[in-house]
Amino acid sequence: MPTATNPTIPLLALLSFVACTAPTPKQSVESWEALEAPIMSPPGQAPLAERIEYWENKLIALPVADLSEARLRLGELYLQTENAPQARLSFYAALGGPHSVTEGALAEYGIARSYLLDEKPGLAKLHLMKASALEGPEGQEASFLLSWTQGRKPEAPDASFLERLRPYLAGTPNVAEIPLSVGSYASIARGQWGARPLRGNHSPMGKAYRITIHHTAEPMTSTGYRNSIAEVRGLQKTHQQDQGWADVGYHFLIDRSGRVFEGRDLTIQGAHAGNSTLNRGNIGICLLGNFHPQPDRGSQYMLPQTPSQDQYASLAQLVDSLRTDFKMSKRQVWAHQDLKDTACPGVALKAWVGRYRN
Ligand SMILES: [Zn+2]
Repeated sequence: MPTATNPTIPLLALLSFVACTAPTPKQSVESWEALEAPIMSPPGQAPLAERIEYWENKLIALPVADLSEARLRLGELYLQTENAPQARLSFYAALGGPHSVTEGALAEYGIARSYLLDEKPGLAKLHLMKASALEGPEGQEASFLLSWTQGRKPEAPDASFLERLRPYLAGTPNVAEIPLSVGSYASIARGQWGARPLRGNHSPMGKAYRITIHHTAEPMTSTGYRNSIAEVRGLQKTHQQDQGWADVGYHFLIDRSGRVFEGRDLTIQGAHAGNSTLNRGNIGICLLGNFHPQPDRGSQYMLPQTPSQDQYASLAQLVDSLRTDFKMSKRQVWAHQDLKDTACPGVALKAWVGRYRN
């Protein structure tokens, strides 16, 4: 389990472990206004928060007849920040004021995607149907998403098209069938388990020189593919939304059937060992299951599980390949509790690591 959650450390200090990118230089909204004609937008590379602020200011300044464009733009920006409720409000506001037929369809398309972000494909479907008048790229996307929510498997024209829509596909029933190439170590690529995109606040991995083994500390008995997908997606959601991390903290996750799920990319430093010093050059591998008793968390957590034989087999294979490719000795493989005061990954898995090292 990740342990950067020490409640005595303020949240901002925790974020600083992973948020190490240099701040983007501030550009004033006024400077764009001086340069451009009316209803221009700030440069696409401006930070999202500034572009949102720009359009929010426009809401006050624009005549009623021009408000729909500002509201549609705001809705799109909120979708990019994955703020689904706020996006929905903006699109509904666009629908509520004077608007063209195309703007109405764009608003419906936005509302649909906000529901997909909220993992409510049923509601999304109704609004996608109302967006059917759309033409061009948006029309192509809307009809792809409609087919998808209806359980069909439409062909994506190219990889970037699919990548753009990926955040909206995570909650759909056929998420496991999204086609994507499989990472070289993992059997289940990010696209296959419906991973949300990596966020900006991460540091480069640099040279990987050690491997650390964890458990999720969550009971997990199912060996089913869909249950594993739900578990891994839930973990990523917790790490991104509750912890504010860039991605799921681990580089790999191994389910009860031994499937290896691709976590964060190996070029990106993990968030699993406890702090940025411990995470440096450290590949994080996490086995699904609770391998240490936690009676304070209720009866479900009372009796620890042990890793399954399939998990052990996949773990050994994964660690062997990583060691070969990254030129590590067996002594560079650790249990989490070797690095930090934690019960992770429990007695049995700790013993496995001990045997592996020796
Ligand atoms: Zn751990």
